[in-house]
Amino acid sequence: AKSDGRGMYRFFEPAMDEEAQSRRALEQDLRSGLAAGEFELHYQPIVKTDGREITGFEALIRWRHPRRGLVAPNSFIPLAEEIGLIVPIGEWVIRQACATASRWPSHMHVAVNISAVQFRQAGLTEVIVGALAASGLDPQRLEIEITESVLLQDRNGTLATLHQLRALGIRIAMDDFGTGYSSLTYLQCFPFDKIKIDRSFVSGVGNDAGSLSIVRAVAAMARGLGMTTTAEGVETDEQRDRITAEGCTEMQGYLFSRPLPAAEIERRFLSAEAP
Ligand code: C2E
Ligand code: CA
Ligand code: CA
Ligand code: CA
Repeated sequence: AKSDGRGMYRFFEPAMDEEAQSRRALEQDLRSGLAAGEFELHYQPIVKTDGREITGFEALIRWRHPRRGLVAPNSFIPLAEEIGLIVPIGEWVIRQACATASRWPSHMHVAVNISAVQFRQAGLTEVIVGALAASGLDPQRLEIEITESVLLQDRNGTLATLHQLRALGIRIAMDDFGTGYSSLTYLQCFPFDKIKIDRSFVSGVGNDAGSLSIVRAVAAMARGLGMTTTAEGVETDEQRDRITAEGCTEMQGYLFSRPLPAAEIERRFLSAEAP
């Protein structure tokens, strides 16, 4: 390594240094991106397994960066969570999703992902109430998706928030079910309306007996507990047929549609000419 003043450091830790630098650049870009309005939401239809009727859409964030292009959430959500920026980003998501859904037919809901970090913030309920009021969206049309990680800490606080949201009429979905460390008893203790079965199980239902029996067990358990089930990441006719046979009530995946910008969703699925 050349001696450029930081020569020793660069000699011993070149990889670390580069990683730290690109992280800092990403962090700065994220902050300015939020201020500059570079985030957008795409929406993916959720359809009933019987009849294929659309019941609603999941809002999925994208970052349209002038140089980086369209950035997927897995490339920036973890850092945004680490530096706390997920809180203002998440608030923007809630407001934007409610405003957009308020233009849709009144039987269609919108589902919003809430990070565990954001869920822990005091004032989440107020942010949601504010977004509902500003948009005029009926609370019954808003669904929030939380992952098992939310349930792992501060059980009483989590329960209180979930009950508060439900009392407003908002629905709660357990996202990515089966991928975390929560126990089955959580499903009984926490007031979920819906379980979303992770794509890692759904993708295997055609060729792997283990995945099929997990999907079968989760769907049966959800039914017993009075919850609906959405199979995530349905890509093939075979997967659709299997999860339907197992009694999953809804599905979501590339087979039906990829996530699309709101204008595209409205043109394809919600306009008078839509099939
Ligand atoms: P998720 O909540 O599990 O969302 C489903 C992901 O699966 C989305 O990826 C979606 O585009 C993708 N997907 C849907 N159908 C298929 C399929 O048939 N095949 C395959 N291979 N993938 C499919 P996406 O949009 O890249 O989002 C990734 C994750 O980022 C989300 O996983 C969620 O955890 C997080 N995320 C997205 N938007 C937000 C947000 O607004 N707030 C927060 N906190 N997290 C978000
Ligand atoms: Ca989700
Ligand atoms: Ca999911
Ligand atoms: Ca997932």
